[in-house]
Amino acid sequence: MKTALITGVTGQDGAYLAEWLLNLGYTVYGTHRLTKTPDIWRLEYLDILDHPQFHLHACDLTDFNSCKTLIKQISPDEVYNLAAQSFVGLSFKEPFMTAQITGVAVLNLLEAIRIIKPSIRFYQASSSELFGQVEEIPQTEKTPFHPRSPYAVAKLFAHWSAINYRESYGLFATCGILYNHESPLRSKEFVTRKITHTVARIALGQQDLLVLGNLDVSRDWGYAKEYVVGMHRMMQHDVADTFVLATNRTASVREFTDLAFQAAGTDLIWEGTGLNAFAIERKSGQLRVRVDQNFYRPCEVGTMQGDASKARDLLGWQANTRLEQLCQLMVQEDLRRVEKGVPF
Ligand code: GDP
Repeated sequence: MKTALITGVTGQDGAYLAEWLLNLGYTVYGTHRLTKTPDIWRLEYLDILDHPQFHLHACDLTDFNSCKTLIKQISPDEVYNLAAQSFVGLSFKEPFMTAQITGVAVLNLLEAIRIIKPSIRFYQASSSELFGQVEEIPQTEKTPFHPRSPYAVAKLFAHWSAINYRESYGLFATCGILYNHESPLRSKEFVTRKITHTVARIALGQQDLLVLGNLDVSRDWGYAKEYVVGMHRMMQHDVADTFVLATNRTASVREFTDLAFQAAGTDLIWEGTGLNAFAIERKSGQLRVRVDQNFYRPCEVGTMQGDASKARDLLGWQANTRLEQLCQLMVQEDLRRVEKGVPF
């Protein structure tokens, strides 16, 4: 049976992918960044930590020698590179660190694979953020890129590095351009989980108000658990390629907020626009949502909407969970956690 290495295994996608591969019979090695206390709550939540075929390692992927040692010791068949500084907002405050972890580290892995075991299949987690100021709607694998944040610029470097190693050295380096994908395992820095967690706290009387940034931006939001299956399919395809994974539906932050309050059994009346927008809860008349400029980004992306026809035709993959269902399952899980006092 195959051995896979997943970098960034403690993140949302890493945990779901580890679960998926373990269920398929893989031996899975996962890395997390060097810290005293790795953030293992997702691995615990999915009951992965004690699995006999799962192994957790700390590794600094920004260090080339560490990458070489990792590849040499584990000698995996497949490497899924999910490690990144993945918060777009933070990337504006920490551009150098983001460039190192999200961009240059990918080159360390590719180079280590090229030198030590070029038969390894490599998956690069590319991102819809590459499209940034979108040139068409919906976007496909052929849409030109126009990154709009230090995060997206770093991802662009990583994306083209993978393709360059594919074309220059024949490495099986495949890129998944994934649109936003959410779940109860999303961290609360991301807007969907911030919303569902806060809505749960409001519903249970632990908070009064949800404070957000730009309500009018829209995203193509899918369910992360389905997207990791797409990653695995890309790696089993005959040739390394680039694939968009998306739902082909776009919704604004405001619409997602509405869905979340509805999932908790209440609804909102919106007033005002832009920075002056706010929302009142219909049944209580209480102020529930307001906008704060501090959550705005220096630069925003356009309408994110992806066309995943290529993945459907070549990999048999498509997104099946509707945004309403996704939001509902996130709110339900957050209600359960908040009620139990679970901190994450
Ligand atoms: P991203 O697509 O990877 O940047 O995912 P996020 O979930 O962090 O942000 C999605 C969109 O929501 C961005 O366009 C943000 O500007 C917007 N947004 C509005 N309010 C907030 C907020 O309070 N927090 C975050 N993270 N994003 C917000």
